[in-house]
Amino acid sequence: MGNVLHFIISLKVLNTSIHIIPAMKNSEILTCFQCGTCTGSCPSGKYTSLNVRRIIKDSIKKDISDQLDLWMCTTCYNCQERCPRGIKVTDAILSLRAQAVKKGSILPAHRAVCKFLIEMGHAVPIDDIHITIREKIGLSEPETVRKYPQALKDVKTLLESCGFNELVK
Ligand code: SF4
Ligand code: SF4
Repeated sequence: MGNVLHFIISLKVLNTSIHIIPAMKNSEILTCFQCGTCTGSCPSGKYTSLNVRRIIKDSIKKDISDQLDLWMCTTCYNCQERCPRGIKVTDAILSLRAQAVKKGSILPAHRAVCKFLIEMGHAVPIDDIHITIREKIGLSEPETVRKYPQALKDVKTLLESCGFNELVK
């Protein structure tokens, strides 16, 4: 019965125009039957406009790179754990985000974090004020690349050579 249902659903979906990015081909996304379990399980959706069920539905039909909701997901994996179809929901969102970035659709706040990474080797770098506070309570500088100039140079080389800087500029 399960196989028959799966077949009928697949046929139904195939009758509509399908827009699915290559990275999501193996995510079983076409078997989504819009039950809403993902949305009901989504902690972020309770406080933001994120509707993960709708994201899955829309991503099959069209390019949703410019949808801000994509960035409201905290990647907690609740939806993926609970999806009765075993769809890799969170992985699909990550693929959609990767595609959005390739198309230049990235939130200013995220672009700023990327800039930190490029310049300081850390997405949330420690600053001089916090280093001073740490010193006052007897803590040394944390073990990050900031402490090791050669390591920071290596991180910068890696980011540059893999095209990260170009991607998020
Ligand atoms: S829980 Fe799974 S099957 Fe249900 S709507 Fe979400 S992605 Fe689709
Ligand atoms: S992984 Fe994202 S979409 Fe899924 S439940 Fe968590 S916040 Fe919601």
